[in-house]
Amino acid sequence: MCGIVGYTGPKEAYPVIIKGLKRLEYRGYDSTGVALQDGALKVYKKKGKVAELEDAIVGKDLHGHTGIGHTRWATHGEPSDANAHPHQSSSGKLAMIHNGIIENYVQLKQELINKGYQFKSETDTEVLLNFIEEIKKNNHCSLEEAVRVALKRVTGAYVILLLDADEPETIIAARKGSPLVIGIGKGEHFLGSDASPMLEYTKEVVYVNDYELAIVKPDELILKNLGNEKITPYVQKLDIELAAIEKGGYEHFMLKEIFEQPHTIYDCLRGRLDTAGGTIIMSGIQQYADQVMKANRIVMIACGTSWHAGLVAEYIFEELCRINVEVEYASEFRYRNPVINPGDVIIAISQSGETADTLVAIENAKAQGAIILGVVNVVGSSIARVSHGGAYTHAGPEIGVASTKAFTAQLAVLTMIALKIAHDKGTIDRDRYMHLLNELSEVPNKVETVLKSKDKIKKLAEKYKDARDFLYLGRGYNFPVALEGALKLKEISYIHAEGYPAAEMKHGPIALVDEHLPVVVVATKDAYHQKVVSNIQEIKARKGKVIAVISEGDTDTAAICDDVLIVPEADEIVAPMLSVVPLQLLAYYIGVAKGFDVDKPRNLAKSVTVE
Ligand code: GLU
Repeated sequence: MCGIVGYTGPKEAYPVIIKGLKRLEYRGYDSTGVALQDGALKVYKKKGKVAELEDAIVGKDLHGHTGIGHTRWATHGEPSDANAHPHQSSSGKLAMIHNGIIENYVQLKQELINKGYQFKSETDTEVLLNFIEEIKKNNHCSLEEAVRVALKRVTGAYVILLLDADEPETIIAARKGSPLVIGIGKGEHFLGSDASPMLEYTKEVVYVNDYELAIVKPDELILKNLGNEKITPYVQKLDIELAAIEKGGYEHFMLKEIFEQPHTIYDCLRGRLDTAGGTIIMSGIQQYADQVMKANRIVMIACGTSWHAGLVAEYIFEELCRINVEVEYASEFRYRNPVINPGDVIIAISQSGETADTLVAIENAKAQGAIILGVVNVVGSSIARVSHGGAYTHAGPEIGVASTKAFTAQLAVLTMIALKIAHDKGTIDRDRYMHLLNELSEVPNKVETVLKSKDKIKKLAEKYKDARDFLYLGRGYNFPVALEGALKLKEISYIHAEGYPAAEMKHGPIALVDEHLPVVVVATKDAYHQKVVSNIQEIKARKGKVIAVISEGDTDTAAICDDVLIVPEADEIVAPMLSVVPLQLLAYYIGVAKGFDVDKPRNLAKSVTVE
């Protein structure tokens, strides 16, 4: 994963790079480093977050108009000063940062060791860098040429940015499988893993594609393929504002993003859902609506929270569209030689649109003839570009590592797609269809109501924060919500939490129940409500502590629980968008109460661009 930034132009590079790295810290934060061109190469790097590097190099010479910076998420070698990027080549003349994994680095390293190279770090990155240097030396060629030759030998995924002490204003960049954006300013260029480091300087960007190499100078951007042919850069306009990536007065991005949900869900529905006319307009789906209607099977491919959104969608699509749905972890699907039949439709769900496993899984399925629809948040991302069609979630930049607003926006988009297909296919009657359109349109206001219980949830967090384990239970549409609630808690409070289908509890997890175990039960009014209430009784009979998410006015269920989190009544199809919100807040406040950095939980990174 990791975040990368580059700058070349008339400004001082260091402040641009540091500010950019702070915005990219969601991608990785175990070490930080910068390299600056100033007569010679200056490299400063350190284990820890960006602010720690800043503190450590106060008073150093940070001058230079061309530079690169990196915030790492370690894959090869523990977080340490030596393993931090940028790495310097053996001669000291080249500096490089890298996002990704060089899979054949062991072999390349051995070749270099045989030639007398020594290594200062355990990273795959330093191996690739010295491999490039060796080619440059042997072939007496430019850095650009050496990079091109080297990359033909490399397997794995990468974005690399390189500086050469002999070419002080040039950054060489290349990508395969990890994201790279180049911002075009007046007499200056910016590089980043996403566009956030360049937002205040330019709105004109180029998304670099796989197997492309960029030669970036202050007033020149040359794009080439690995065959050394020039490619015309496709310049796009950014439509993100700076405010969207700032905290806006909230203590954490996660809290801000939880509170943004009434707006993000509204933005997601806006212009698509027409309750008066009874229509859903989704042009990226419309073109493939016939294929989806005729599909024998839809496969949802995703990872993490997006996988939970896929599970909810499975229930919705099967119920409304009567199409068989399977939900797959991308990392498993891509490696197990899955059977793809003509006419299969794949729905790829990813916040970043860069999730490495999802990307490869859909590329494989596409090659076998499947139709690929992307449900993605980041406009112009790799998954969005590889997909045939799809729909953006329009949730705005999500910076908190624990996903919140992207999840509810994914649910909103997937529900609209299901409703549209069910309507066109005739598997839903008009009354139910109109009812669900209305229910969907009311979700933003109902989420607003749920958010009003934040103080109560904060108190509950204090009460339960010292629990060692949590169990989360739900049935039907609320089963994936239980999984998502447990995942949120694990991610930011480091408390062990397990999500389970409520009925399945009897087949194992019930053995864990005692007076110390908080059990969060998602028990809103739906077709399974009475069954879930019976499960609550089973937990109470074994002295477990029950915290239930219940529908407004459900005093009977409230009476048998230790604590309740109340959400407005809603049709079960849209209920997950409401019932997940108190669980997000509970996890958030427990993480905060335990004193953890909830925006940057340990070991995690937001956008998983490595396998
Ligand atoms: N594989 C490289 C390392 O472990 C880069 C990891 C990253 O993308 O941050 O240093």
